[in-house]
Amino acid sequence: MSSKISLSIRGWMALIIGCSLFQSSVNAGVPEILDELELKWERQSFGASQLPIYAVHPSTETPNRNHWDDMVVPSQTLPDSPGWKGIVNHYTVLGLTDTLRTFTANVSDGRVSSHFVVTQREVEGDIKAGEIIQLVPESKRAWHAGVSGWRGINGGGLAGINASFLGIEHVNAGFIQASGRRVYSPYDADQILASIALQEEVVRKYDIAPSYVVGHDDITERKQDPGPLFPWEVFFKKGVGAYLSPEELSQSMVPYWSVKEPLPQGESVEFQLSYMARYGYDLDPRALLTPKNIALIEAFRGHFSCNMRPKAIPLSQHSGTRQDMAWISGLVAKYPRE
Ligand SMILES: [Zn+2]
Repeated sequence: MSSKISLSIRGWMALIIGCSLFQSSVNAGVPEILDELELKWERQSFGASQLPIYAVHPSTETPNRNHWDDMVVPSQTLPDSPGWKGIVNHYTVLGLTDTLRTFTANVSDGRVSSHFVVTQREVEGDIKAGEIIQLVPESKRAWHAGVSGWRGINGGGLAGINASFLGIEHVNAGFIQASGRRVYSPYDADQILASIALQEEVVRKYDIAPSYVVGHDDITERKQDPGPLFPWEVFFKKGVGAYLSPEELSQSMVPYWSVKEPLPQGESVEFQLSYMARYGYDLDPRALLTPKNIALIEAFRGHFSCNMRPKAIPLSQHSGTRQDMAWISGLVAKYPRE
């Protein structure tokens, strides 16, 4: 009996070992995808907390695969800055393999890239959530922002936002349109934890001010990423990015901050847009409700007044609600332009 049991335990052990061997050869996760794409990479640690990352090295045989500008940038465009001025958060819409393929395609035109990619859980390929892949060294410009603007830094190409802001992409499906609303795909909890850990390091390393951690949708009306399900408050609580605590948002605090210019009565699109421009949004408030300004109000709601509550974003209300106005006046007071 006992020998039978031990045989059976050995049988199970063999099965378990066999399974894990099978899994490690079939489901190797990120390394397998990097190898399949013939990218050279190594495990490195990033920042003071030694975050484990996959660092992809430039391809010397096919230099067009390196989607970055070879010039060392930030100190040239920002003489007073030791390095990067800010971070732009994105989502990819694509899965990890297609994301990496796009960012390393051997093309001379239409280049697109990002300094970091943070994975979500993907069953196919057995990708864990929260793996960090560095595709562009911090000494190079990546091509992630396009024509965009924030706090007076604007433009595209080799100048503009790409020259001052690091790009961090999150693997995420984006949104589908349903019943007139955008229905966004949620982020994985482990993906967000990894992104926070990464951005804590970047913020510390480059002394990045909270108001310079933004979403792609904040800096251009052409984009909707990372969208309202990106948990900005969770980042804020870890010291990454700008936000208001409930106390700061309370009606008693807002008049205190904007004492020279109290909130106007009712809902005012002029107030909303002019304060958004004061805060950093690249818009002309006198243009009022142009498609561009409407898109930026929606991005503002996703980031602040309706963050994590996309259903609370009014479908046809473009003017700036009282809640929006309280948020933007609080942000202008808390994070003044330098
Ligand atoms: Zn983007």
